[in-house]
Amino acid sequence: MKKIAIIGAGISGLYIANLFKKSSNYEITIYEKNDTINLEKGYGIQLSVNSVKLLNGIGFSKLSDNQKFTPEKIDFFSVKHSNKICDLDITEFNTDDSEYTTLKRSTLINFLKNDLDDVIKTGFEISKINDQEKKIKISFENNETEECDYLIIADGVFSKSKSLISNNKIIPKYNDTLAIRGKLTKFPENVDNKNIALFLGPNFHQVIYPLNSSGDLNFIAIMKHALSLNEQGNYSLFSESSFINKILENVPHEFKEFFADIKELKIFPVFVSDKFLKIQNNNIHLIGDAFFAFPPSFAQGASQSIEGAYELFESIEKNMENTYFKNRASKTKMVNIRSKLNQFAFHLSNPLTRFFRNFFLKRLVKNKKFLESYLGKIYRKH
Ligand SMILES: Cc1cc2nc3c(=O)[nH]c(=O)nc-3n(C[C@H](O)[C@H](O)[C@H](O)COP(=O)(O)OP(=O)(O)OC[C@H]3O[C@@H](n4cnc5c(N)ncnc54)[C@H](O)[C@@H]3O)c2cc1C
Repeated sequence: MKKIAIIGAGISGLYIANLFKKSSNYEITIYEKNDTINLEKGYGIQLSVNSVKLLNGIGFSKLSDNQKFTPEKIDFFSVKHSNKICDLDITEFNTDDSEYTTLKRSTLINFLKNDLDDVIKTGFEISKINDQEKKIKISFENNETEECDYLIIADGVFSKSKSLISNNKIIPKYNDTLAIRGKLTKFPENVDNKNIALFLGPNFHQVIYPLNSSGDLNFIAIMKHALSLNEQGNYSLFSESSFINKILENVPHEFKEFFADIKELKIFPVFVSDKFLKIQNNNIHLIGDAFFAFPPSFAQGASQSIEGAYELFESIEKNMENTYFKNRASKTKMVNIRSKLNQFAFHLSNPLTRFFRNFFLKRLVKNKKFLESYLGKIYRKH
C-alpha cells in the first residue's frame, strides 16, 4: 500500500483525496494548517464543464438545485448596465451530463470533504521536507513528523511547501489588481437572472452570478491598483476601513449604485504565478494554485485545480508520474494566456479601443470557430 501525504485541504487537495480514497492501494492523509477547513461561506465559484464532468465522477451531480445553479449565458455590459454589448451562450459547451455550474465555495468544499473526515488532520502546518531517503520525510510546525511514498503539494498560491523545495526562488507576484468580493440579494435592473453578468469598465470589471435557485448572488470585481511592496505584505491593511473607503472611491461612478447593496464586502490583493517549478523527484508533485495561479479573469482556477488533480491521479495510477508536469504545464500556459488576455480586454480604458473591443466582441461571441478554439480547447478536456 502506498502512503500519500497531501498538503492543504483546499479544492485541489480535497478532490485528489477523493480519487485516491476509492482505491485500496493507497493510504492518504491530508495535512491542513488551519484548525478548521475554510468555508468562506458566501463566496461563489464558477465551474466549467471540464471540471463538472470530473466532479460528477465522484457524485457531484447528486447535489440539489438549491445548492447550485446552471447559467445559460454570459451577458457582457459596458459601463452603464443598461448598455448591453452582447451575450455568449455557454450551454454550447454543455454535454448531456455536465453543465457549466456556479455555486457557493462552501457548498463545493463541503461536498468534497464529505467522505474525508477520517483522513484530514487539521493544525498541521508544513515546516520541512526531506526527500534524500527512499521515503519522503515531512515535518510540521507542531513538531510532528511523517513519512510517505508520495507528497502532493496543494497548499495554494502562497505555497510554503513550494518555497521550501525551491529555496524561496519561486514566489507569486502581485497582479496589480485588487479583488472586491461580496454577496448580493437582488440583480441590477435589466439584467437577466438566469445568466452571468459581466460589466466592463475602465481598469475595472465586475461579475454577478446566481449561486443557487434560492436567489443568492455572488459579486466579484477586479480593479487595477498599484501597491507598494510594504502594502502587499501588510495583511491588516485590507481590513482597515480607511483603506477600504479609499479603494471604493475609485469604483467607476456608474457602478457605485451596486456597491450600497453588497453584503460582507471584502477586499484582497490578487497574487499570480509567473514561473513553473519542475521538481526532480517523481514522487513529489504540485497541484492547484501551488502548481500555478492564474489571474481570475477566466474563472478557471478551481476548474484547472480539479483537472490537474485528476491528471496527477491518473499518472500515479499508471506509473507514469514523469508525464504529469509536461502535460499540465502545456495546458496551464494556454489558460494563463487567455486569463491575461481577458483581463487586458476587460480593463481597456481608452474610448476608441473600447469601441473596437466591443465591436469585435459582438462578432467573436457568435463565431463558432473562434469559440471552439478560445473556450472549447479549455472546456472540453477529458
Ligand atoms: C478573486 C478570485 C476569484 C476567483 N474566482 C474563481 C472562479 O470563479 N472560478 C474558478 O474556477 N476559480 C476561481 N478562483 C481561483 C480559485 O479560487 C483557486 O484556483 C482555487 O481555490 C485553488 O485551489 P487550491 O486547492 O489549489 O488552493 P486553496 O483553495 O488556496 O487551498 C489551499 C489550502 O492549503 C492550506 N495551506 C496553506 N498553507 C499550508 C501549509 N503551510 N501547510 C498546510 N496547509 C496549508 C490552506 O489553509 C488551504 O486550505 C478565483 C480566485 C480569486 C483570487
